[in-house]
Amino acid sequence: MKRKTRLIHGGIAGDPHTGAVSVPIYQVSTYKQEGVGGHKGFEYSRTGNPTRHALEELIADVEGGKAGFAFGSGMAAITAVMMLFNSGDHVILTDDVYGGTYRVMTKVLNRVGIDSTFVDTSNLDNIEKEIRSNTKAIYIETPTNPLLKITDIEGAAKIAKQHNLLTIVDNTFSTPYWQNPIEQGADIVLHSATKYLGGHSDVVAGLVVVNSEQLAEDLHFVQNSTGGVLGPQDSWLLMRGMKTLGIRMEEHEENTRKIVDFLTNHPQVTKVYYPGLASHPNHELAKKQGRGFGGMVSFDVGSQEAADKLLNSVKYFTLAESLGAVESLISVPARMTHASIPADRRQQLGITDGLVRISVGLEDVEDLIEDLTTAMK
Ligand SMILES: *Cc1c(COP(=O)(O)O)cnc(C)c1O
Repeated sequence: MKRKTRLIHGGIAGDPHTGAVSVPIYQVSTYKQEGVGGHKGFEYSRTGNPTRHALEELIADVEGGKAGFAFGSGMAAITAVMMLFNSGDHVILTDDVYGGTYRVMTKVLNRVGIDSTFVDTSNLDNIEKEIRSNTKAIYIETPTNPLLKITDIEGAAKIAKQHNLLTIVDNTFSTPYWQNPIEQGADIVLHSATKYLGGHSDVVAGLVVVNSEQLAEDLHFVQNSTGGVLGPQDSWLLMRGMKTLGIRMEEHEENTRKIVDFLTNHPQVTKVYYPGLASHPNHELAKKQGRGFGGMVSFDVGSQEAADKLLNSVKYFTLAESLGAVESLISVPARMTHASIPADRRQQLGITDGLVRISVGLEDVEDLIEDLTTAMK
């Protein structure tokens, strides 16, 4: 099965009982038992629900893993994965991970004794230097937000294996359509399915895929014990979104390529961050480990005033957090998603006051380019 086909026919497609081509929404909490313990595979919907199960099978299938798990948000998924570790364990993470990941590691999980170190994982040497006797995992986000830095998944997984660590990849930006970390040696892949997988700004969800029976058993134990599961309605919405992931990603890519072209030739734009650009420091690696570069672009317009003028003038780009939906979104990381990072550290990282991030949507690209042209005049 090829990738677009798998998104539509993978997992559990349809309903064998009625012939319905869409998986039913099993809006139910409990299941009749014919005798004590005599159930048909489902006993209570926190433990397992048929609609959620269909989604979990689908994501496991498209990521090429052993088992999938659906949670109430990306952060619930990340937290559940971290609950595989014990007090006293240590995790090495990409330094510009999603803000919520940084927050849960440094303000919540630290309180239960899970220690973390953040390094620029785009240089593998930095990972190796931070490995301690209690290190249990390497957690990578690639590409990163908002500077689209790339980490070598295969290289990181190799280091992890040598030291008996798990490799965990947040694959939200690339999606399984463009990148499959498990094929490159990762043990666990996770997603904020709120973004491209859902794709329509209408559902908050998180997904995890693991590559072994043991991890599947361990994570199901955590999922069932801590209970942050995704409900049947949202599971259904997510499957509906995922059916079109392939064509959406192709079109996001096409639109983004044209916008990046426009931006790199615009006199007011001082820098463009996009892994698809030959000038991107990890362009070759991005090309090798993924099949596409995605729909996220950041660019510098030189000053906060210029950024504000742009934000206030665009018609089709909505000023909002989040990404990966049909509608184009625009944001200024320094004052939105990354406002909690001290100003001098932001400057150091390249997250300047003039840095603008866009999530390129599925509108006609001519309209989007015209919108940016007018707004930057
Ligand atoms: C949004 C996001 C998350 C968190 O997911 P939620 O669904 O908002 O909880 C995690 N990682 C990345 C890369 C994200 O963009």
